[in-house]
Amino acid sequence: MVSKVSPVIDSGPEVVDTSAHPVISVQNLVHRYESRTALNGVSFDVRPAELFGLLGPNGSGKTTLFRILSTLMIPTGGRALVMGFDAAQDPASLRRQIGVVFQAQSVDPKLTAYENLWHQGHLYGLRGSALKARVHEILSRVGLADRAKERVETFSGGMQRRIELAKGLLHHPAVLLLDEPTTTGLDPGARRDLWQYLQILRDEEHVSILVTTHLMEEAERCDRLAIMNEGNLVALGTPAELKSEIGGDVILLDAARDAGVLAEHIRAQFHVTTTVLGSQVRIEQEAGHRFVPDVVEAFPGEIQAISVSKPALEDVFIHRTGHKFWSEANESDPTASEKKDKKKKKRGGQS
Ligand code: ADP
Repeated sequence: MVSKVSPVIDSGPEVVDTSAHPVISVQNLVHRYESRTALNGVSFDVRPAELFGLLGPNGSGKTTLFRILSTLMIPTGGRALVMGFDAAQDPASLRRQIGVVFQAQSVDPKLTAYENLWHQGHLYGLRGSALKARVHEILSRVGLADRAKERVETFSGGMQRRIELAKGLLHHPAVLLLDEPTTTGLDPGARRDLWQYLQILRDEEHVSILVTTHLMEEAERCDRLAIMNEGNLVALGTPAELKSEIGGDVILLDAARDAGVLAEHIRAQFHVTTTVLGSQVRIEQEAGHRFVPDVVEAFPGEIQAISVSKPALEDVFIHRTGHKFWSEANESDPTASEKKDKKKKKRGGQS
């Protein structure tokens, strides 16, 4: 493929016509680790200046896809293109188009913010006064201009993440890839700041952003989402579109005894579709508040608790897969139980 970019990137954003093309195109992507299939024919596009989320529980294939897009791994099958460059065929050209923020810290904590960025600039062929100006510009962008001369080890977790972001953005990439950027030890305020900053980047600098996450509230902030499960794409759309497919309320019943038996009885009596989730029965139903008294009356002593809520993204996942987002297999994630507790409380409050 003919290279579309100059080898030295030191003069602001490159002009690449993306009007006719998606910035990222994932085409029937397959990846296997020996006998385990991590990606099972995944396809989607990311549009220019879009904040695109890859949402999935642990083990769904997000990191594998991220590593292919960032040219760290060659897929077993299919194609991944960024700005028209094929990750397997032309990784060097692709790399010039992307900024990457990995889960693990890449900044050197013993160096100052300025020094970290200065070294990063050299890796991209930036030098002298142009680099100096760019480092100052990007530090202002992430709100750390006044801390330039301080060692990164003295920064809070949120500030360190912003330096990671500054590193990823230094060479004016058209596309920013972030792998679960808020998972490691960020407090809620720092998480919120980071997401606000991503939105500003999209709106003011028209950077296209792909971010992986397993957090529903982060997914809600994306323009569009690809929801993954066990290597498959299970849903694609805006958060609102995805939730609207449920078309009604979500009713959750805590069974006093066997949830499977209760589900069977409800199905037979009310002709509704039920899903059994552990000790709970889940039903999608128009005007859920009217259904609740009927079902409680029909099965006295069988129902311990009941809640009605508007569909959330987790409901889209259940709707498409038939099981919960967090299962026992992926429960090891530290935020999983916190999220579940929060969700339970929320649902309980609405009942
Ligand atoms: P996620 O990022 O959504 O947690 P991953 O892409 O890390 O998902 O993993 C997808 C699947 O591939 C999982 O079943 C995981 O165990 C498996 N996997 C990931 N990396 C490797 C590896 N290096 N060797 C073997 N299996 C792997």
